[in-house]
Amino acid sequence: MPAITIEDKCVGCGRCVAICPGDVRSLSTGDPAAITKYPNECWYCGCCRRVCPSGAITYLFT
Ligand code: SF4
Ligand code: SF4
Repeated sequence: MPAITIEDKCVGCGRCVAICPGDVRSLSTGDPAAITKYPNECWYCGCCRRVCPSGAITYLFT
């Protein structure tokens, strides 16, 4: 259940990328601007979700 970005809510601020302790998140030129580039390395710490100003991060439950 890695962090995922809700496409239409991400404003591309980069806060989630900066705070991720595992460098799991990445900014891209696509839509959404921030993605979980290495989902298998996300350990659901919640940092990215807490700092996101637009509520654009949720968790994918599989
Ligand atoms: S939940 Fe934690 S490890 Fe996973 S992407 Fe967010 S900040 Fe990184
Ligand atoms: S913190 Fe939220 S709004 Fe900012 S880049 Fe990350 S997902 Fe997008």
